Amino acid sequence: MSKYTPMIEQYLSIKAQAEDAILFFRLGDFYEMFFDDAIQAAQVLEITLTGREGGMEERIPMCGVPYHSAEAYMNRLVEKGFKVAICEQVEDPSEAKGVVRREIVRIVTPGTVMDGKMAPETKNNFLVCVSSSKDQYGLAACDLSTGELFVTATESTLEQLMDEINVYSPSELIGQPGVLGELRASMAGWLQGMLLTDWQRKDEKLLSSQFPQEQLRETSPVCAECVALLLSYLSETQKRALTHITRIENYERRQHMTMDPFTRRNLELTETVRERTKKGSLLWLLDRTVTSMGGRLLRRWIDKPLTNRADIEKRLEAVDCLYNRLIVREELRQQLKDVYDLQRLVGRISYGNANGRDLVALKLSLMQIPFIKQICAESGSSTLQELADTMDDCDDIRAWIEEAIADEPPVSVKEGGLIKQGYQAHLDQLREASANGKMWIAELERREKETTGIKSLKIGYNKVFGYYIEVTRSNLSSLPEHRYERKQTLANAERFVTPELKEKEALILEAEEKMVDIEYELFMQIRDKLAAEVKRLQLLAETVAAADVLQSFATVGATYRYRRPVITDGYDLVVKEGRHPVVEAILEGGSFIANDTDMARDDGRVLLITGPNMAGKSTYMRQVAMLSIMAQIGSFVPAEEATIPIVDRIFTRIGAADDLVGGQSTFMVEMMDIQTMTAKATERSLVIIDELGRGTSTSEGMAIAQAVIEFLHDRVGCKTLVSTHFHELAHLEETEPGLRNHCMAVKESDGDVTFLRKMIRGAASTSYGVYCARIAGLPDTIIDRAYELLSRFETASAVLQSADEAAAGRERTREETTQPPAAIPAAAASEVGGAEEAEAVPVREETFAP
Ligand code: ADP
Repeated sequence: MSKYTPMIEQYLSIKAQAEDAILFFRLGDFYEMFFDDAIQAAQVLEITLTGREGGMEERIPMCGVPYHSAEAYMNRLVEKGFKVAICEQVEDPSEAKGVVRREIVRIVTPGTVMDGKMAPETKNNFLVCVSSSKDQYGLAACDLSTGELFVTATESTLEQLMDEINVYSPSELIGQPGVLGELRASMAGWLQGMLLTDWQRKDEKLLSSQFPQEQLRETSPVCAECVALLLSYLSETQKRALTHITRIENYERRQHMTMDPFTRRNLELTETVRERTKKGSLLWLLDRTVTSMGGRLLRRWIDKPLTNRADIEKRLEAVDCLYNRLIVREELRQQLKDVYDLQRLVGRISYGNANGRDLVALKLSLMQIPFIKQICAESGSSTLQELADTMDDCDDIRAWIEEAIADEPPVSVKEGGLIKQGYQAHLDQLREASANGKMWIAELERREKETTGIKSLKIGYNKVFGYYIEVTRSNLSSLPEHRYERKQTLANAERFVTPELKEKEALILEAEEKMVDIEYELFMQIRDKLAAEVKRLQLLAETVAAADVLQSFATVGATYRYRRPVITDGYDLVVKEGRHPVVEAILEGGSFIANDTDMARDDGRVLLITGPNMAGKSTYMRQVAMLSIMAQIGSFVPAEEATIPIVDRIFTRIGAADDLVGGQSTFMVEMMDIQTMTAKATERSLVIIDELGRGTSTSEGMAIAQAVIEFLHDRVGCKTLVSTHFHELAHLEETEPGLRNHCMAVKESDGDVTFLRKMIRGAASTSYGVYCARIAGLPDTIIDRAYELLSRFETASAVLQSADEAAAGRERTREETTQPPAAIPAAAASEVGGAEEAEAVPVREETFAP
């Protein structure tokens, strides 16, 4: 019976240790892949699939990539959601008895990638781990490139867990099979793009060796369990100590505003819905950070708006100061510009893959700190002062690098040129020896030219033959016989050596070899010394990042004339001349029309907004959400004045979500969202529903819309903005004391409709749907017919509606609700507060152009 060859046997036993990864098996200068891995990788990487004898009858599928360009291939696989296990030869092949010993040295996974496309500079690359206890879920989010680790517990509902996972947009999700199973079963749509791995091994010892006791005491059991799982996964995949993960950052969910994944996406906080790009998002608008750390922190602040007033005020205080002091702001920006990515540098240092250039970048960054510290300290802001106080300029670390590392070291750490002259006596001696040897050779060249009279004679060097004397063929006749020893013949030259030259060569090469070894060793010592200081450097990085985000807010605020919001723990939201920040920035020439918002508990806690398509309803509602979010992350807001009450949660139901949750109708999705909203919203929440009740028949849609509005108004009491096509719902203002009708002003003249983009009190009387159809160019026959049918329907529905209302009234009486039945029929309702009757507002006009 045939058997696999010993090497394939070895391959199989190693592959068994990383079954869910593609194994890069080092064979000389290549990483080879075999069997199914080869078939899969060849396809993804578009490389040739070959075969290899393996002892069995059938050849084994194989493909390979050269080791020096392997990284690009590895990255490509990881981007596609694969894991890659890198298996190296761990003994010298010349010393091996039998098959060379090989081991997996690292498993690269989407959530553990430390640079490149998967982990761009201005974005954290999070690996999230989830676990569960009896009544809670634990969540730990780690960015291996920076060493940050955020940990929290959520109630045991999957929605909450999913909301929290989404805060981090992880590229990889691991966790106990039970929890992942539940997520897979009901949240599949939201898990797209994350690699999922069931993981239940944990190592308590790892936990207690990684973090000090007092930190572990502050961590709840479910969270500690989660961190233990995460650490064991990291240790299993990275196969090294991760000393830069120094701190468990425990937080409670209520410290941040809650938003479901849908809301985040729809408000376009960090990327646009359509193109999925940063451009056009709130992040894009607010990003004037100048460091990568600042860029990442800004994104995190946007992902986690605060709910504690004092914390928000702290940020606003600094922004206020920098907003008003242009010179300080500009100076701070200038100094920050020269700070490299401290967090990732520190990550590379502890991870063991920092090179000389990284250390120089660290040194140059540290040189900026005293200036930054001084600017913050003298800014006049107490928040910046506080940052300055905690800024440790790490001058000792700067000095170590300055003393030891060359100012312009090479990329490689194994070829010398890293360590400065004067750092170590022995190295200096060797350098001198090598330099002397080289000088001697230069002198020899000069001398030999002179003696032989051959001007083109030269001494060269190559790796195979070492130093040689080269004489061109045409000059060979002038060379005395037996002067040199012949070594190599080229097409048009001969190369020679002399015993003396060989002697010097040996000295030079020996010195150089030693130098390289010593330099490498010294470099490692310094790197290790720095690695012991990561905690200090990480804290410094955090303060620098915060200063950067604060200046970014101030810069954007000053550019767009934002104002400092008044943050309250109260209920009322009052905005004068508010604007949608992103729409305003994109519209040219200041053409955005500002609008007020006034939502008090008893007067306008529900705003029912009617009006035609394209009138600006959706923009207005998003604007209110944007202002809340901006205020709660500590930014100034686009308004003349704004009193913003702290919101615990924003729900939105805007636009179509059907692309996300496959197989469900838009209407079903809408109803599910509304279910969550009604179950979870509190009085402190902000709810936004665009076109409530579409997607089903008119009367059903309207009925559901009314019932939802009543529920939110009567039972929840949250601030609610609802837009609807059903202008017939305007009658609710009569029965719901906190509800106010609003509409977008429209000017009609000579059959033309102009959208004024101005929000006014009262309800719209028509949707202008047929009008829009005409503008869109539908033939007159269709338009005329539509108008004719419309007037017929409206008469009929008025009759029907009155009957419905009467029935609804009876129903309510039976249920003994306190609300009186809606009194006015729909047709009459539009006259209650029709746009035509609303007070005149001075507005700029904009003609509707389809
Ligand atoms: P609706 O929700 O009523 O259909 P949108 O809010 O989508 O309308 O607005 C339609 C377009 O009108 C937007 O794309 C935007 O360019 C423009 N718009 C909306 N509000 C304003 C405003 N306040 N000022 C200027 N343009 C606006």
